[in-house]
Amino acid sequence: MRWTSAIARPLRQSATSVVRQSPRRAFSSSPSAQAVWGFIGLGRMGYPMAKNLRAKLPVDDQLIVFDVNKNASSQLMEEGGEGVRVADSVREVAEKAETVITALPEPSHVRGVYKSMLEPATLLKDGVAKERLFIDVSTIDPMTSQSVAEIAQSTGQGKFIDAPMSGGVVGAQAGTLTFMIGAPPELVDRAKEILSMMGRRILHLGDQGAGLKGKLANNYLLALNNIATAEAMNMGIQWGLDPKALAGMINTSTGRCWPSEVNNPVPGVIEGAPASRGYEGGFGVSLMKKDLGLALAACKDAGVKLGLGDHAMNLYNEVEADPNCKGKDFSVVYRYLGGKE
Ligand code: NAD
Repeated sequence: MRWTSAIARPLRQSATSVVRQSPRRAFSSSPSAQAVWGFIGLGRMGYPMAKNLRAKLPVDDQLIVFDVNKNASSQLMEEGGEGVRVADSVREVAEKAETVITALPEPSHVRGVYKSMLEPATLLKDGVAKERLFIDVSTIDPMTSQSVAEIAQSTGQGKFIDAPMSGGVVGAQAGTLTFMIGAPPELVDRAKEILSMMGRRILHLGDQGAGLKGKLANNYLLALNNIATAEAMNMGIQWGLDPKALAGMINTSTGRCWPSEVNNPVPGVIEGAPASRGYEGGFGVSLMKKDLGLALAACKDAGVKLGLGDHAMNLYNEVEADPNCKGKDFSVVYRYLGGKE
């Protein structure tokens, strides 16, 4: 492997807390120069992830960060101490860091940020003379991800892997995210070592792009299961069934799914679920719409026929347009259907 792994070195005392050392890691005993890590996109997910990463890196390593929102970068510098530096541009991050993680909102942001990092194709001359490892944890479409990977790779500037995540902001803060990765086999161990500083489970689904394909297939199913659960609960309750009895029966029967069991859309059925606190928190309708839209676009691109996708998207559009549902957890579909609360 060409890159010098920062974690193929003994972990020293971390900057802010005790280092949690994975028993899987094989650390060389020979000291080597400090490593520089890059993190771009310090939003709801990226900020706590970068903070966890900083806390688990060797104390001498540097984390260089960038966000168009300057407040986010300076807050991280304050919280992360000496080991965090703020770059003036994403290009500066790419020049200085050997490993760069990006957590950006949409495909257009990922395309733009990588264009700025990779053009001109002189990273290895202008900065550290080492092939980079780019890890994009954003949820985007596989086509965009593959085109960015191709530019990184064909110009010899680095390898690019997709590692979309699940677990939400709570998982990002707790460092318990699940990552679905698309990477060639020779990069899997390195990717796991890095991502395990921010998450708990790392699932390798295949070559570059595979992580996103898996994530979008899963979230497509989630989008449909959520609607189907809201409809099934609504029909049973309208027919006079007790909500808890109905949910209990479904959850030991063939209709059981995550929305019925964990995120039941009927208030009071699951204590602590968003439905039981006015549909606040949780996974917003707009995020569900985003992932569903990406799945639909990727299916169109690949000629995959879907029976329910467009109907589901229309419904979520209507839910989002309803002032009683806008900005709420996606289980609010039940309210939109006129379910008893
Ligand atoms: P966010 O909008 O909170 O954060 C994105 C950050 O990127 C912002 O701080 C923004 O200022 C920054 N940014 C935008 N353009 C930039 C640029 N050109 N250069 C540098 N920084 C730029 O989004 P988020 O909730 O942190 O989500 C990030 C990604 O993770 C998205 O793709 C999202 O779909 C995915 N995701 C989110 C969740 C969640 O619960 N929020 C869960 C799983 C996956």
